[in-house]
Amino acid sequence: MGSDHELLDTLRARLTRLSEQHLMRQRQQVESTCGAQLQVGGHALLAFCSNDYLGLASDTRIAEALAEGASRYGAGSGASHLISGHSAAHARLEVALAEFMAPNLVQGRALYLSSGYMANLAVITALADKHTEIFSEELNHASLIDGARLSRAKISVYPHCDLDALARLLGSSPAQHKLVVTDSVFSMDGDIAPLPGLLSLCEQHGAWLIVDDAHGFGVLGEQGRGALELSALRSPQIVLIGTLSKAAGVAGAFVAAHATVIEWLVQRSRPYIYSTASPPALAHALQTSLKIIASEEGSQRRRLLAERIAQWRHALDLLHWQPLDSSTAIQPVLIGDNQETMAAGRALRERGSWVGSVRPPTVPRGTSRLRVTLSAAHTEAQLDELIVAMQAAEKLTQRIPS
Ligand SMILES: *Cc1c(COP(=O)(O)O)cnc(C)c1O
Repeated sequence: MGSDHELLDTLRARLTRLSEQHLMRQRQQVESTCGAQLQVGGHALLAFCSNDYLGLASDTRIAEALAEGASRYGAGSGASHLISGHSAAHARLEVALAEFMAPNLVQGRALYLSSGYMANLAVITALADKHTEIFSEELNHASLIDGARLSRAKISVYPHCDLDALARLLGSSPAQHKLVVTDSVFSMDGDIAPLPGLLSLCEQHGAWLIVDDAHGFGVLGEQGRGALELSALRSPQIVLIGTLSKAAGVAGAFVAAHATVIEWLVQRSRPYIYSTASPPALAHALQTSLKIIASEEGSQRRRLLAERIAQWRHALDLLHWQPLDSSTAIQPVLIGDNQETMAAGRALRERGSWVGSVRPPTVPRGTSRLRVTLSAAHTEAQLDELIVAMQAAEKLTQRIPS
């Protein structure tokens, strides 16, 4: 009994400390579908905070495919993939993903998993053990960091996008197996990892390259195959993780790699094996999403997104806040202080625009920021509204004379 209360007291004290540091987070209840406009607390807001880069999260064709999948396969899968949960819908999706990604794979195969977080744990824990050294990019997503920790490999963090530092680390490593692990598009910064340079270092040092393309799949490249297509990379030494919850608008993730790697994941990856297969209806819906991404309509959506990115980059001259150097749909504006970042976010919301306010531990201390995310679903006029709101919010929070 006594120790229970001690834990509660500790947690209360920690929560108070978070609050004092302006680090408490709050979940907002969204009452509408995900789109350019969201209904929150009875108010309509323009949303520049989702990862729905192509505007597919509320696409009626995909929602109808989900309903069709539910009526065909029911609600749940009933078991893990290796028992009886692997449905024909999962299998068809994996074939479609492997075909789509084929130009950037060597003897490629794809594996569908319930989430990107799980996929990253699944890949790293299956490929690394205590005889492995993992070379982890400084700004990697939490799931890559957690996967590395869970694997019991030696972890060496290299500075952001620093190929020279990575070359030195690889050169001096005595490890039997080496994995270089990186985001393709950095989720809180929007810049892109130097993948061609990373791959050539891997080839030089006999290392494998693990690429988390959460923010590239569906968005980057002419066909939307993501970061590998953008840089025209193809190697049996690359393991790609793509999420299907962002541009693809549904849920889950896939690993695309050499067939032998995928077979090893099926046989031995604990996060994959010891978890119930996701509802087959999701895999059914994702086949429709993938068709749209790969079609001319997908290209058109990517062009619309590129137009919004260009519009935003052009408008940055009008702002005093410091934008980060990004050419992707993730366009952060650096503020620094936690309290000021929250105040800026509130000021924007009062003007009808919802932008993510990102604080530590998601970003390094002292680098709190507004994270603007753009989508093909946004119109030119909607983005203009955000820019006007930004100018007003900036004056309010920084007291810049008008
Ligand atoms: C969102 C994200 C993930 C996790 O994907 P989920 O499908 O949401 O679990 C992994 N890596 C990166 C870089 C992400 O941004």
